[in-house]
Amino acid sequence: MRVSLLGAWIDALRMEEVEERIADFVKEGAPRQVITLNPEILCRAQREPELLRLINAASLVTADGAGIVWAGRIAGRPVPERVTGIDLLLRLAARSAKEGWRIFLLGGAPGVAEEAAGRLRGQYPQLIVAGTCHGYFEEADGRSGSPGDEDERGGAPAAGSSLREAQVVEMIRRACPHLLFVGMGAPKQEKFIARNLKRMGVPVAVGVGGSFDVLAGRVKRAPAWMQRLHLEWLGRLLREPRRWRRMLVLPRFAWRALREGLAARFAASSDLSRR
Ligand code: UDP
Repeated sequence: MRVSLLGAWIDALRMEEVEERIADFVKEGAPRQVITLNPEILCRAQREPELLRLINAASLVTADGAGIVWAGRIAGRPVPERVTGIDLLLRLAARSAKEGWRIFLLGGAPGVAEEAAGRLRGQYPQLIVAGTCHGYFEEADGRSGSPGDEDERGGAPAAGSSLREAQVVEMIRRACPHLLFVGMGAPKQEKFIARNLKRMGVPVAVGVGGSFDVLAGRVKRAPAWMQRLHLEWLGRLLREPRRWRRMLVLPRFAWRALREGLAARFAASSDLSRR
């Protein structure tokens, strides 16, 4: 089932259902985009109609963040659980090892994707990693980042990197992965996937944010108890205080979701009383 929140369609699925849906996509082979949607991006999409269109054009959108699950509940359109980028990556790596699917990791500072791939291979020795590449290349829209800079901005390519987007796309196309994980931060990774999906010809491309940093041991995930209490965002803020500015959108997201949710409930109850 799909539910609509602040104009975006989200698939109300549990992790195992998401995994099965993706397995079907791999079997079908047509290029598909999967988005793990968090409140920050949903908020940004309110100001950027192009981003909202991109989200709604994806084949599968999971609820990445307790905020999305909460907003669904308020609106009476429940999303059963969080399906985060890193959890999905781990789950699909296990499945890929079993099925013989080839994976490609794109993103992070130079060396991080290789390290993350090494960790995954350590955990799943059967896993076939078709390739890895860092995420600091010159993008086709004229933008590029430097390691340590997670915001989209224009400027010169990262020091020592003259890699261009077309070369990255060609590298992925030649590696013929079944699954492409892009860890360049949202919405940069979503835009990269949307721009290049057809050219890369990969059956499934998923944006996974900072997951490679976590896998490579460069960033620690919030402890399990915090994740259980839906406080992972707070854990991230405490570990990476520079994120506070990005998190300023969260109260606005909560307010908009609450307003939309209450309006939907009010409309449903007045509908019932009229019958
Ligand atoms: N990154 C990248 N290319 C860029 C900018 C960022 O590969 O041009 C990487 C960065 O090194 C980090 C990830 O993208 O590994 C962003 O992680 P973050 O946790 O900020 O992403 P989120 O999960 O919040 O979208």
